[in-house]
Formats: sequence, C-alpha cells, structure tokens
Amino acid sequence: MWGFVALLFGVFVWLIFHSQRPSLRVLMYHKVADTNPDFLTVTTVQLRQHLHHLQQAGYQFVSLPDVLCALSNNTGDRINPRAVLLTFDDAYKNNLTHALPVLDEFAVPAVIFVPTAFVGGTNEWDGGTDAIMTGDELKSLVNRGINLAFHSHQHLNYKHASPERAAQDLEANVRVADEMSLPMTPALAYPYGGRPKDPEQRRALYETLERLGIRAAFRIGNRLNPLPLRNVYDLNRIDIRGTDSFATFKRKVKWGKIV
Ligand SMILES: [Zn+2]
Repeated sequence: MWGFVALLFGVFVWLIFHSQRPSLRVLMYHKVADTNPDFLTVTTVQLRQHLHHLQQAGYQFVSLPDVLCALSNNTGDRINPRAVLLTFDDAYKNNLTHALPVLDEFAVPAVIFVPTAFVGGTNEWDGGTDAIMTGDELKSLVNRGINLAFHSHQHLNYKHASPERAAQDLEANVRVADEMSLPMTPALAYPYGGRPKDPEQRRALYETLERLGIRAAFRIGNRLNPLPLRNVYDLNRIDIRGTDSFATFKRKVKWGKIV
C-alpha cells in the first residue's frame, strides 16, 4: 500500500519537474479550415482556442530566428524557458486564408515549411488536391510575422532515401527556393519526421545539412526540447491534430509524450 502511494507521489513529482523544466516546445500543424477537423486539419476555432490557452498559461511565442539565435550561442539562455514555436508543414493555401488571420489576432510568429516542387500546385505526394501557395503568396507572408523554411524539394521521406538521393533533393530544395527568390530561414522539417536509422547514413544527411548552411532540423518525436538545445538536427515537435480534444492538446503541450 505505502509502496504504491510512494510510487504515485514519485510520478507526480516527476510530472511537475518535467512540465516546469526550461524547454522549447515546437508545435506541428498542417492544414487549417473552417470545418471538418481531421488528423492533419485543425479548425480556426481550435487554432484560436490553442493560441488563447498558450497565452493564458504563460507560454512565450518565439520565432524560428529566435531559436537559431539561441542555437548559435549554444547556451539557451537567450530563449525563454517557456518558449513555444508554431510550425506549419507543406505551405497549404489555407495557411494564408485561415491560419494567418488567427495568428494576426494573437500577434504570434510562425514558420511554414515549404516543399518547393509543389509551390503553386497541390499536395500530390499524398494524392491530395489541397492547394499549395504560389511563390508570390509565400513572399507576401514574410512581412507578416511568418518565416519560410525548407521541407525537402519533393516531400521525400529521408528515412528511406539513400544519402545521395537525400542530398540531391536537399540541394534542389535550396536551389529552387533561391530561383523563386523565396526568403528562406535556414532550417528544415523532415517530411514525415523521417531520417535514416542507420548511424552512418544519418551522419551523411547531417553533413549535407551542414554543407548547405541549414542550421536546425525538426523531426516529430512528440517530446519537449530541454534547454539548452542540443542535437540541432534532431529537434522534437509535438504533433497537433484536429481530432484531439482540447484536454489532449493541453496535456501534449505541457508534457509531450510521457512514455
Ligand atoms: Zn509535409
């Protein structure tokens, strides 16, 4: 009996410690719509509720350049201990039409990760017909608190790509963004959160990122990033789903994945 009580107490103390520990929380969104939430789509009502909660709970919104700055001095003391970075993958047009007005309401920054092969097209990589922003639309965002960053050229899963194929794709991502004059911030979100399991192949991918001047890369992982930040090419994001309840959202943000 007392052993069980001690165990519960221990878990409680650990949870408090874990949620209070100085950390960067990175939230991963995809699509935003008026209705019909699904695992990749939150509604504008949900997004507004999320941002309101984050503000009320005392989290501090930071931008991607803030995070890169903290990485470059490698101490983490220039980043708020309750920092939250909002990220949106794939550059859907609904980010412009539906997310941006809500972000503006709360005056919070965000980053959009762009798969350059699909700019002005649709999410063909998963057979979808959702519009991806055009180059001009993407450029129009950068004076409005949005940073653009890399999401591979072909939305390739680097977990299954050879180091050569991944390097070609990343080079195309950087080159095509440059040709379109997109003002990119040098960071990457791995499509599907995928990077090679094999240590040699992973090292080769990291070397390519370094060579291309990409200074941070985000996986999924559903964990918080304790400060100071380490493993700059392996930063965790929390997967935010429109199918989650508000209680689940709050729990994920506070603790990430517990086990
Ligand atoms: Zn993606």
